[in-house]
Parts: sequence; structure tokens; C-alpha cells
Amino acid sequence: MQTFIREESPAPGVARIVLDRADKRNAQNSALLYELDDAFSRAAADDAVKAIILAAEGPDFSAGHDLSEPIVVPDDGPRGCCGGFGLPGIEGWWQTEREVFVGLCERWRNIPKPTIAQVQGRVIAGGLMLVWPCDLVVAADDALFSDPVVAFGVNGVEYFRHPFEVGARRAKEMLFTGDDITADEARALGMVNRVVPRADLEAATLELAVRISRRSSMGLRLAKESVNRAEDRMGVTDVVHAAHSLHVLGHSHNLNTHGILVDPEGARVIRESKKK
Ligand code: ZN
Repeated sequence: MQTFIREESPAPGVARIVLDRADKRNAQNSALLYELDDAFSRAAADDAVKAIILAAEGPDFSAGHDLSEPIVVPDDGPRGCCGGFGLPGIEGWWQTEREVFVGLCERWRNIPKPTIAQVQGRVIAGGLMLVWPCDLVVAADDALFSDPVVAFGVNGVEYFRHPFEVGARRAKEMLFTGDDITADEARALGMVNRVVPRADLEAATLELAVRISRRSSMGLRLAKESVNRAEDRMGVTDVVHAAHSLHVLGHSHNLNTHGILVDPEGARVIRESKKK
């Protein structure tokens, strides 16, 4: 039974998957992530679907990981060939993050048909991990993107594409300060394709998806894989995995120093940094 995700067919050839947890600003628990994976898998397998939109209910696209619930691999099993999730020490947590965060993001990034993120409001930390695997990003003019988790004693979110999304120097500022990147700046940096008024977001994204869906599925598949392979040649997959190893080093340090995976001062530091 689905609880956190809605699936829609807004036009022939277009599937729309909607994060439907507005009361929690679409924060991601394990169930939401695996329902999302199921929905992406269905849209990928349906030959009538030519383009996939990922949208979100409510004022904010996603507030990131839901820190109030444990992240677990579901009973019906991981989506990659992996295991060891319950092992002691950092080994179990490392494998869990590799499956639930990095693994799912890589699966979605490699769906062999175009995906479009339809983004409004806040996209915080783990929220970026739903936007960045998509091929195109249409943002409302109120969209704000941030990754403040350096305050928690790690390098950034687990799917570490920051240098590729916004460039090395801006990535460092984004990570060091945790400050927001606005929709217009994200477009100027190349992270966002289009910025539209909030009221036009759904229609503008659908119009783009419909235009794409009229093209040959073979051509779209080839174009997507060609660009993804170019990104791989530029090192994106290696960077994601190298950075995730460092991310887990951060968790291990926090576990040794504070007894938990994140620096307990993190939330306070982020709150006070917002007051400036
Ligand atoms: Zn982590």
C-alpha cells in the first residue's frame, strides 16, 4: 500500500510521480524512498511512458532525510546486490547508506528515459538527492537549494554531485556556509534548466515533458546514455563514491567522538547561522 507517493498520468506518454508527504515537508523516511523507487521502476518498465516528472505536494519540495525515523532497508530486500546492513560498527551503516541513499540515486539517474524534477520551495540536503538524479530541473521562482550538513561533521549529502552541479568554487561555498542557492542563481550555474513563476510550475513542466515525449524513445535513450557516459568520463560516479567513503569516515568519527553518527551541535549551528 502506498502512503507517501502518488502516481499520475497527466498526459499521454507522461508519468508524474508526486512526493505526497506535505505535512512533513516531504522529508524522506525509508518507506518514502522505496515507494519512490517502486514508482520509478513502474514508469521505467511501462513502454507507453516516454518521460517522467518527479513533483512534490505542498510548499516545499523536500526538507531532506527524516531524522526522526531510523533509515532501514525494507523487508522485501535491497534493490542492489548487497548486504551487511545489520553488521556492527561503521560497516553496517556504510552498507545501509550505500543501498538506501547512493544506490537508489544511481538507479534513478540511470533510468533509460528522460526524467524531470519539478521543484518548488525548499530543497534541503537529502532533497538534493531527489533532484540531482533527474535529467532536467524546472524550478519555481521561490525554490531554494541548500546543503547545511557540514555542521553535522560530514562532507555533504551522500549523493555528492555538488562540484558537477554548481562548479567547484560555488560547491565549496555552499558546503562551508550551508547558505541557500536561489532558483535564479541555480539556473545561472547550470543546475536548473528553467525558472518559472510558482503558479506556472506544473503547466510549464508538463509542457516540457509532453514536447519530449513526442520524440523517438530510441533517440531519447541514446541521448541520455551518451550524456551520462560523458559525465562518467568526467568522473562523476568516481567522485560520488569517493566522497561517500569520506562521508562515512565523518560518521565514523562522530560515532567515536560523540557516540552518534552526526555532531550533536549541528542543528544549533545551522539555526544560529540562519539568524546571522
Ligand atoms: Zn550519511
